[in-house]
Amino acid sequence: MAGPTTYFDPADASALDALPARTADLVRRRVAALGPAYRLFYREPVEFVRGSGAHLTDRDGNDWLDAYNNVPSVGHAHPRVAAAIAEQAARLTTHTRYLDEATVRYAEDLLGTFQGDDLAHVMFTCTGSEANDLALRIAKAATGGTGVIVTRHAYHGVTTEIAAISPSLGGERSIAPWVRLVDAPEPGVDFAASVHTALGSLAEAGIRPAALVVDTIFASDGVYPDAAGLAEATALVREAGGLLIADEVQAGFGRLGHGLWGYTRHGLEPDLVTLGKPMGNGYPVAGVVGRAAPIAAFADRGRYFNTFGGNPVAIAAAQATLDVVRDEGLVAHSAAQGAALVERITAIGDPRIADIRGAGLFIGVDLVDAAGAPDESLTLDVVNALRERHVLIATAGAHNATLKIRPPLAFDAADADRLLDALAGALGEIALRRA
Ligand code: PMP
Repeated sequence: MAGPTTYFDPADASALDALPARTADLVRRRVAALGPAYRLFYREPVEFVRGSGAHLTDRDGNDWLDAYNNVPSVGHAHPRVAAAIAEQAARLTTHTRYLDEATVRYAEDLLGTFQGDDLAHVMFTCTGSEANDLALRIAKAATGGTGVIVTRHAYHGVTTEIAAISPSLGGERSIAPWVRLVDAPEPGVDFAASVHTALGSLAEAGIRPAALVVDTIFASDGVYPDAAGLAEATALVREAGGLLIADEVQAGFGRLGHGLWGYTRHGLEPDLVTLGKPMGNGYPVAGVVGRAAPIAAFADRGRYFNTFGGNPVAIAAAQATLDVVRDEGLVAHSAAQGAALVERITAIGDPRIADIRGAGLFIGVDLVDAAGAPDESLTLDVVNALRERHVLIATAGAHNATLKIRPPLAFDAADADRLLDALAGALGEIALRRA
């Protein structure tokens, strides 16, 4: 099957037989109704019924610590966001072809968070994929180019165009001929040199570049918060006529604990910025923020309308989420909690932990075997052992040997204690089992 083996494999009859009867029945019904393309996390899938802060409750009433989900960023079922959605839904839902003051107010408010970066407009979509799709259309219209450069294990979304720039879906096979892959800017990689080579390869094929697209935390590449060479690479792309698209779908809205936007960590000045996931704390709302000139070039070619994109309920969710991020000081909170977590994971001092990288509450932990090689099976065992302790995390990276820790920003010191206990316990148990 495609995808990391943290996924449940419903085609494996013995895996189904090992499940509690009710879970097995629901899995069977789900596969029958939704078909075979969907995946479930874990060897034993989990069913939640309620959430609050960084906690979830399963259908048996057990409390779980969520150290994985970044969409309910200000906390699961945050009462202010839920109330804002309910109030607007009970009053009116239309779309962006009518005047709506709250939409304009939110757009002005959001653009104000990009001050100094010459980012003049925001256009609304429903998903991060649509945001990247729109950003690419804008970049193509503005540059006249079609070539795109992305990192080797990037994920940018699901539309046909964006799946074609998302090698994490199917490796080089899933990539379009107008795409060039470069190594993520991890230590030891000369990112600017790789982009230079990619530009050369596009030129050789007679393809003009439209954009370099970067996820500013390089989540699916393995979490690289301290990337070098990005500004230099951007300069090369601009020289060749292309734009920089900063994909903030993962890193945005304060997660990295460095202002609201991840690209500021790398000293970048993007032409287009794409937003999604945490923007409405779970309500589907996403968008593209961009400079005036490329958006004008796009508008010259035709109009833009997205039926649900930026509808008043989505805007209510987005405004409440942004207000909570500010009012609850979640950017500083993310920085402090994340730094403490990195320090405490380091203090575990386990030789199987080869590297810990983090920015705010986005942390990657590389696990290795006795020979120092990336250890996917250990990583999957840790994720499943944490699941047994009712703690959610996931994996990332080229070798699927990086623990991805990315809790709702509501994650607090007591949650950190619980995560640390569970992680140390899981590593100890696995060591004993394998001894
Ligand atoms: N960009 C990045 C960096 C993402 O991680 C994702 C989703 N995982 C997307 C874009 C696509 O967002 P969506 O699933 O909302 O379409």
